[in-house]
Amino acid sequence: MLQPNRIICHYGELALKGGNRNFFEKKLQENIQKKLAAFLPSPIEKIRREYGRIVIELDFPNQKDLEKIQKNLGQVFGLVNFSMAFECDLDLESIKKMAVEIFEPLENKAETFRVSTRRSNKNFPLNSEEVNRQIGAFLVEKSGQKVSLKNPDQTLFLEITEKKVFLYLKKISAVGGLPVGTAGRALALLSGGLDSPVAAFYALKRGLNVNFIHFHSRPHTSAASVEKVFELAKKLQDFQAGSKIFSVPFAQVQKQIMLNCPESLRVILYRRAMLKISEAIGRKNKAGALITGDSLGQVASQTLENLSVVGEASNLLLLRPLITMDKEEIMQKARQIGTYDISILPHDDCCTRLMPKKPELHARLDQVLEAEKNLDMEKIIQDSLEKLEIIELK
Ligand code: ATP
Ligand code: MG
Repeated sequence: MLQPNRIICHYGELALKGGNRNFFEKKLQENIQKKLAAFLPSPIEKIRREYGRIVIELDFPNQKDLEKIQKNLGQVFGLVNFSMAFECDLDLESIKKMAVEIFEPLENKAETFRVSTRRSNKNFPLNSEEVNRQIGAFLVEKSGQKVSLKNPDQTLFLEITEKKVFLYLKKISAVGGLPVGTAGRALALLSGGLDSPVAAFYALKRGLNVNFIHFHSRPHTSAASVEKVFELAKKLQDFQAGSKIFSVPFAQVQKQIMLNCPESLRVILYRRAMLKISEAIGRKNKAGALITGDSLGQVASQTLENLSVVGEASNLLLLRPLITMDKEEIMQKARQIGTYDISILPHDDCCTRLMPKKPELHARLDQVLEAEKNLDMEKIIQDSLEKLEIIELK
């Protein structure tokens, strides 16, 4: 059977309007290169930007590699869809010859078909409609299949470009979004739970490069819990290449809060301390935003009052991508991106340690700021910067 020798990648045109086009396309091309480096031996020349699409040249890979390539491309943000394609010269005879070759193996499966042409090369002597009709009529004669414009079993897509014609039968959906790295950088607070990895995924989807920060209470919580957070961050590398995890000891901070502040405000003060430390680390690493997995009302303490009192702790933009999402939607997404199975493993959450009996559900900023005066926040931040561990992910 004839093997496809090109992949045609399509991206969202709307996002690329304006002066940013070159920057976006280049980033996307780079991200594809990185993602496919393991399968394509000399990717630089083989991944080209051509007139509003990216064309990947394949050296007749085997079926297994093709599957891997498809899976990997499906994870590149910025791509809307891609197709395993065949390339031929810019003339009707070549198109006919290739079209028949592609159709032959399908003879018995598809009864009806249609041809759908997009012509970016306006110098090609026939317009899209004429190509559809001529190639359609030719295939009817050759294959005995019938044309159905409304509901065909099979569509033959043709793209007539400046240099070549591409032919393919299927569009494979990719994740959409914007190329990672085009929107800047963020620092995601990763807890080990279900929500924060999904929040990080959505930040990546909008073009942010994401580093991770995790607070642990070792030795009171287990090493396995920290390990689990590393696994989650690694899983998210499916969608970006190269990032860091900042692992921050938090037991001493919790102890100070416990000893010096009202019990009911404990969790709120933990969260505020996390955000303040994250802000300091984020700024040092050129992050333009912090990301958390908060979701309004998901638990009793996630009230507007609490969320706003906690959020006030950071002067760096705080993004909460899941804020309006249902748990069910979040779990579904977690399954889709592969973080669910890791997240549901047991772990000790540093915040459920030493939980107050009656946590505050409607915190007031003045009370919280008053309680915080009993802490040396400057020192807490400084100590954290000194004690943090940095793990580089490839
Ligand atoms: P998750 O499922 O991500 O744990 P959650 O719904 O359980 O979220 P909380 O536990 O209240 O919510 O945490 C809210 C957010 O605060 C988390 O989504 C995460 O971004 C951040 N966070 C909580 N604990 C930690 C931690 N130990 N390290 C880093 N970030 C944390
Ligand atoms: Mg949690």
